[in-house]
Amino acid sequence: MSLAQFLPWQVDTARGWLENRDRFAHAWLIHGLAGIGKLQFAAAAAASLLCESPRQGLACGQCAACTWVAGGNHPDLRRIRPEAVALEEGADATGEAEDGESASGGGASAKRAPSKDIRVDQIRALESWFNTATHRGGWRVALLYPAQALNVISANALLKVLEEPPAHTVFLLVADAPDRLLPTLLSRCRRLPLATPAPEAALQWLQSQGVQDPGSWLAAAGGAPLAALRLAQSEESACPAWLDQLAAPLAQGQPPDIGALADQLEKMPAVQWIDALQRFFVDLMLAGAGASPRYFPSLAQAMARTAARADAARVAEAARWLTRQRAVAGHPLNGKLFAHAALQRVVLSCQA
Ligand SMILES: [Zn+2]
Repeated sequence: MSLAQFLPWQVDTARGWLENRDRFAHAWLIHGLAGIGKLQFAAAAAASLLCESPRQGLACGQCAACTWVAGGNHPDLRRIRPEAVALEEGADATGEAEDGESASGGGASAKRAPSKDIRVDQIRALESWFNTATHRGGWRVALLYPAQALNVISANALLKVLEEPPAHTVFLLVADAPDRLLPTLLSRCRRLPLATPAPEAALQWLQSQGVQDPGSWLAAAGGAPLAALRLAQSEESACPAWLDQLAAPLAQGQPPDIGALADQLEKMPAVQWIDALQRFFVDLMLAGAGASPRYFPSLAQAMARTAARADAARVAEAARWLTRQRAVAGHPLNGKLFAHAALQRVVLSCQA
């Protein structure tokens, strides 16, 4: 097991932020675009706060505290995340000390679907931890993610904690979209926005991770390097094959095979293909304005041809429709019908 390190583009921000640890706020909201490494930042920050001999503010990697954090058993570090997330992480065993609730309740979860919420009992279980002395009188760090997984009840329980913060305790909340959090909770947190890294830094890092053709993957992930790495590890090409099969006939003025495409989309999480279609439309609108594509450079020619034929107002309307669908796509629905309807709308908007 290894100690979480700051990513190359995070080191300067981290040093500047951790420099003031004597006057550190007790709750931070670390936020920014999905896939830029916010959780890794928070985990590295937790290690740095707990380290007994930090170097320029960052964890030394050698002291007893660092060894415990790396081994996942530092008593002053807790991870508070939905059961479903904890299970996913279990596969690659990155965890620090488990919260007592999920460590003891593992067997009970076998019969029901793992919770996607951070539940109120997970917040309440922290109470006894707050009442325990910290190791050598240092910090206690609660790493909570994703903060948007707090439901109304657990968010209110956390709010109560933050209104009378326990001594020596730092909460690190991680969120993609702070606007989806309870405003009262937001008001109790200092914000630490993390910027999307510069493309050069992101490309260099992707290369160091062994990604071939990092530019295409980074573009497909909207500039978020960790999302790009996940794509590169899970997909065969930066531009999904189904998007090629949609874009190529459209460029020729031919109808794509919507049924066959819907069969493919049905097998993916809806948010995944809606994201791709939304990016397709951004590129299409850029092409309509004579600009280069942002997400799918390999489709540049097809986009230009389609944009030349399509009605800009109808394209914009279909893009807005996709945005609305994206907001509800996490809910249960008939996957195939939905994919079919979405594709039909996309195709209609792209025809003359
Ligand atoms: Zn250390």
